[in-house]
Amino acid sequence: MTPASPAHPIPAPHAVSRLRTARLARSVKPFLARGGPRGARCPGCRLVPSHCICGLCTALPTRAGMCLLMADTEPLKPSNTGWLIADVVADTFAFGWARTEVDPALLALLADPQWQPYVVFPGEFVDPVRVVTQLQPMAVANTQRPLFILLDATWPEARKMFRKSPYLNHLPVLSLQPDQLSRYRLRRSTRDDHFCTSEVAGLCLELAGEAHAAQTLEARLDVFTHHYLQAKHQLPPDLAGAAHQRLSRLRERDGLTGQHAPAGAP
Ligand SMILES: [Zn+2]
Repeated sequence: MTPASPAHPIPAPHAVSRLRTARLARSVKPFLARGGPRGARCPGCRLVPSHCICGLCTALPTRAGMCLLMADTEPLKPSNTGWLIADVVADTFAFGWARTEVDPALLALLADPQWQPYVVFPGEFVDPVRVVTQLQPMAVANTQRPLFILLDATWPEARKMFRKSPYLNHLPVLSLQPDQLSRYRLRRSTRDDHFCTSEVAGLCLELAGEAHAAQTLEARLDVFTHHYLQAKHQLPPDLAGAAHQRLSRLRERDGLTGQHAPAGAP
């Protein structure tokens, strides 16, 4: 293997990957990513080839779907975690957000009767009549699948997107509760008040009764974060570390027991 080639076969591009490609094609100037590892990136996972994590996880068939509404430059950021959601949740949709236009495919998705869409957003900023804290009975009774709409953006951008997307106004707003958030923090030893998009998606999957997918997404985030930081500091990834072990245990439950060749192994 040459140092420039990724360690694993590159999976077919998912929704976030396709959105990134489309966004790059529209760029008039190159997007300069701040921080993170430098150099060529694997198109499958965005990490430098020596730290590629493609092949460590396959998308899971879940009943819940994810719909990412992404702020303009979000798909271009190497540390964007919406990408990881699309790695794990097979039915992930991704759309770029713009104030003046809306993708007809997004409107069609929101109108598709197989889905019960929820906008995931803090309830304190929303008219209380729209706020729900649990999934609605229709979705629970298996007649509709929950579709979680996540605003993948910085907080100021997300507030603007929420206010200026009239096609979301008729939908219930799923507000994650403080006890759910603090349980999550305890379990993950997260000190930060900020939850990244994939963590929010994990909480939604838990609410939808999809614990295995939620845990797989958390493990995927931990493996990605580990590889990302090791690459940034020009250190090899620890393939026997806690993050890798957890992801392998989850994969064994999927029946995917095949060992992957460690990146950078002789
Ligand atoms: Zn890769």
